[in-house]
Amino acid sequence: MSEVKAYGAADSKADLKEIKIERRVIQPRDVKIKITYCGVCHSDIHTVRNDWGGSKYPVVPGHEIIGKVLEIGNEVENIKVGDTVGVGCMVDSCRECEPCKQDLEQFCEQGMVGTYNGRDKHLGGHTFGGYSEEIVVDNYYVLRVPENLDENAVAPLLCAGITTFSPLNHWKVSKGDKVGVIGLGGLGHMGIKFAHAMGAHVVMITTSPGKAEDAKRLGADEVLISKDTDAMKKHANSFDFLLNTVPVGHDINPYLSLLKIDATMCMVGAVEPLEAVHGGSLIMGRKNVAGSLIGGIKETQEMLDFCGEHNIVSDIEMIDMHTINEAYERVVDGDVKYRFVIDMESLRN
Ligand SMILES: [Zn+2]
Ligand SMILES: [Zn+2]
Repeated sequence: MSEVKAYGAADSKADLKEIKIERRVIQPRDVKIKITYCGVCHSDIHTVRNDWGGSKYPVVPGHEIIGKVLEIGNEVENIKVGDTVGVGCMVDSCRECEPCKQDLEQFCEQGMVGTYNGRDKHLGGHTFGGYSEEIVVDNYYVLRVPENLDENAVAPLLCAGITTFSPLNHWKVSKGDKVGVIGLGGLGHMGIKFAHAMGAHVVMITTSPGKAEDAKRLGADEVLISKDTDAMKKHANSFDFLLNTVPVGHDINPYLSLLKIDATMCMVGAVEPLEAVHGGSLIMGRKNVAGSLIGGIKETQEMLDFCGEHNIVSDIEMIDMHTINEAYERVVDGDVKYRFVIDMESLRN
């Protein structure tokens, strides 16, 4: 085992501070990674603060990891020392159940092993994430990063990117489709970029008129202010797909009125109760409400390759590790365009 520096929270009320954690000795299929950048996801904050229950302490968050390969096990074939690689939201799964066999490890019947706060099969206890100097991960869960992209801005693709790419891909969004992205934050800004690159006519749907200019810069063709009932009526029954990234429970009925017959709205943001759905909103037009969770490893690699081809990265603000607690407050206030990324060199110094 090796001891490395990390940033962790001792309990749900504590600030994050520097701690020491253990990383396992590399196994034949493992890759040891020197972490260079780590994105800050809203889930990190929910886990630190135990908003969803079941958090295990100390919590060392971080599942948008970019780094350089330091060492590989003797059975690792497609990754070399020195490669730039990524690790996202999971570091293991059973690999034998139906979802795992179908490249849907995020829905593993045994439960995927989260990059942090998952069950550590090797050392016991729970897994520690990317707010740390190094990580050891089975090569199956290590992603290749396209060389033409800025590494620091690739980090958020590992969670915010795949979370929005996967539903657009699954529901086959393509050229000429009218796609609405609801909510402009870490997820929404990636949703606009992907839908635009897939050739869709993209409409940013928001409650804040102040976000219009930025939405267009990111690739939206139109902006629809959801509080403007006349504008909402004009767009009624016209959308092929809606990606709903709003992170909290809300009333989805007004959005359902925007869908065409048989069209789907996919939820990716709110992991909490939504306001009641009126049966008529679904019955009138045979409409669908669905959900989606990150993506499997194969699809995450496809997403990264798509980003390489289309030159897509996240819009980021770089921070030093020791400013993480202030950064959390800003994430909670929605005050970041659009993702914080930690320069992990600041933890080593
Ligand atoms: Zn995340
Ligand atoms: Zn499985």
